[in-house]
Amino acid sequence: MTRDPLDESFPLGDGVADAAAHVDCPYCGAEVELPLDPGGGAIQRYVEDCEVCCRPWQLTVRWGPSGAATVEARTDEG
Ligand SMILES: [Zn+2]
Repeated sequence: MTRDPLDESFPLGDGVADAAAHVDCPYCGAEVELPLDPGGGAIQRYVEDCEVCCRPWQLTVRWGPSGAATVEARTDEG
């Protein structure tokens, strides 16, 4: 068999799956659903404002080989 299970569990390209993670805000503690971009690279760092308190998260998103994402949110102050 030549089927690659990675291709099925980590769809890139057509219609990219709706990926999302739940993030606990490091400022106010609210749990917010964060849409993710699986096509944006294996490790992504960017800033996203909290929906609840509007303060900036320093986000690190890491995509594992199984297609699961690990999301880390930190405060701006380090
Ligand atoms: Zn917040």
